[in-house]
This record gives sequence, structure tokens and C-alpha cells, in this order.
Amino acid sequence: MEKLLLPKPSSIGLILSYRCTSCCKHCMYASSPYWPNDWISLNELDHLVSKLSETISPAPLGPKSVSINSGLHFTGGEPFTNYPLLLGAVKIARKYNVPSTFVETNCFWCTSDDVARRHLTELKDSGLNGILVSVNPFILEYVPFERTERGVNVGYEVFQENLMVYQEYYRTLFKSLNLKTTLPFEDFMRKANTSWAYHIELLPMGRAVYKLDKLFKKYPAKYFFDQSCFLELTREWHVHIDNYGNYIPGYCGGISLGNTRNFESLFEGIALDNLPIIKALTTDIQTLYNIGVKEFNYKEQVEGYISKCHLCLDLRKHIIEEGSKFIELKPTEFYKNLLQSPYSTP
Ligand code: SF4
Ligand code: SF4
Repeated sequence: MEKLLLPKPSSIGLILSYRCTSCCKHCMYASSPYWPNDWISLNELDHLVSKLSETISPAPLGPKSVSINSGLHFTGGEPFTNYPLLLGAVKIARKYNVPSTFVETNCFWCTSDDVARRHLTELKDSGLNGILVSVNPFILEYVPFERTERGVNVGYEVFQENLMVYQEYYRTLFKSLNLKTTLPFEDFMRKANTSWAYHIELLPMGRAVYKLDKLFKKYPAKYFFDQSCFLELTREWHVHIDNYGNYIPGYCGGISLGNTRNFESLFEGIALDNLPIIKALTTDIQTLYNIGVKEFNYKEQVEGYISKCHLCLDLRKHIIEEGSKFIELKPTEFYKNLLQSPYSTP
């Protein structure tokens, strides 16, 4: 039987929950407030972190420093929506001496300097090494910029060089526009000089393929044929594990390579005959396209696709909507939440 061998992960993001205060147009994990209120448990965290502590690599400058593609980070969804769980997770990481830990946040909770300082100081004292503050025009639709800026300023005060701002370009731009509140994306585009588009670092996957497709050129499906995702599916860095135990390759939301409740068996080789979607993606994307067309009556989008991930995701979404239950297409709520917007009915 053909098997896909996965390396042990060198850096991991733990999705504490997919629930988020925002519903960003670019979200790779289709997070939103409409997800079930499901969170990873402290018991699961303890089990997982004990295993991960054996494989996680520190950041280049050492275990007390941070970098985006090293160490262990707590993410979501928005981890600060469940602060007690986040704090518990940080303490577990310290118990197992995990290097280069950080939390990723949209700063919705930075309502005052005192609140921001209290939480960040407590997290640091409990063992957290750093923080990543997300700054971009999509979060700006939901989080007042003054809160983001407070998160950056207090984050620096508490973590110094272990504060990461992603992306600094936008922070500088928002400050130059004297923004304080939230701003709809269309208004941002009108306000900002069009040069911002040249600085955009936006992966054409996840919700972006539906909500931001107008920003990209489109191609017919066959343009992406002959491309395999073997490398993306087997990479060892910046892998994610969600609160349901799904082991998610890189940024490929909605794909599960297996369940981490059987952590060791994940690395003994994944039997591809039981996972036809993964098998197709490790071959070439045309194989997945053929499955979609022949078995699920998928119709090619006449306006085209912005990326191979767009084609892959549209096929997977269609297969799920047809009621198919491939075990590798999880969690199914991911596919339901792709098209959510703040005006959708939960
Ligand atoms: S990008 Fe971040 S802030 Fe936005 S919906 Fe996703 S998890 Fe939430
Ligand atoms: S095409 Fe699919 S499997 Fe490949 S990188 Fe994109 S989302 Fe992941």
C-alpha cells in the first residue's frame, strides 16, 4: 500500500479554536464568530505539547527568541477570546520546556493600556516568549486601529524584540492615514494610495479566493494542471494542529492528514489508499479535478481561478456540498464558513 511519509514538525501553530471576533476576507482558516464554541481542552494540550516538545526547533537566535516559522505558537481563531485557556496553554508549554513560544492576535481585546499590560505581563511571567500582532486592511474592518496600535506598543514594552508585527508596512500606512477606528475595506482602498497593492503579502488561499479574487488575475483550471502539492503536504515547518486534533499541512485549511490523538502513528506513513483526496493532491491537481468532475459533477468556474489553491479549494468545497464524507476533508465547518461575512446569518 502506498504511504505518505511525514517528517516530525519543527514548528507548529496550535489552533485553540476556529472562533474569532473577526471574519476577515483573507482568513486562511475561515475563522469567524459563527463557528461552534469548541476549544481544545487542557488535557489534549498537555498530551500534544508533551509530544511536540521533542520535535519543535527554537528560533535562529535561541529558545528565548521568536520567529514566525520556528517554535510553537498559539493561534486560532482569536486565542484571547478564551484567555484562561490561552494562559493554561502557555503554562503547559513552559512545563515541557518548549522553545520560542508566541501568541498571534488581532488585538480586539486591547481596550486599554491596563488590560493589555496585565494580560501580556501575566503571559510573559507564565513562560510565553513573544507575541505576533496582525496588522492588515482586513482585520481593520473589525478591530479599531487604536487597539492594534496599543497591542503593538504594550507588546513592545513587555516583550521588546520578541514583538513581531505582521505586517509593519500596514501599521505605518494606517498611522500615516491617521486611522483610529475600524474601516471597511472598500473605504480603505479609496483612502490609501494605490501603491499599497504592490506591498501586499497575501496568500491566494482560504477565504481570500472568494472574497478578494478581484485583486488577482484569473486563469482556466488547466493552467494549474501538472502541479503537485507533495512539498506543501509534507513540509515540516509552520504546520497546524486544530482543536479537533486535525493535523493540517501548512496553510491548507480544511485538509487533515490525520488525527493527533494517534500522534506517533501519523509519522509511520499515511496510507494513501484510504485518503483519495490527499493521494490526488500528491500526484497532481488534475487528478483532483477529474475526481470532482467525474464523481461529483463539478463544473469549472467560467471566470477562472486565481491560484492552484483556489482550484483545489473550490473542488473540495463542492465535494463537501455534495454530501461526500472524505475523512481528510475536515473540519467540515471550515467549508461552511468560507463564504461567511459579517452580514451572514449564523
Ligand atoms: S485572519 Fe485572524 S483575525 Fe481574521 S478571521 Fe482569521 S483568525 Fe480571525
Ligand atoms: S493546492 Fe490545496 S493542497 Fe496544495 S497548497 Fe493549495 S490548498 Fe494546499
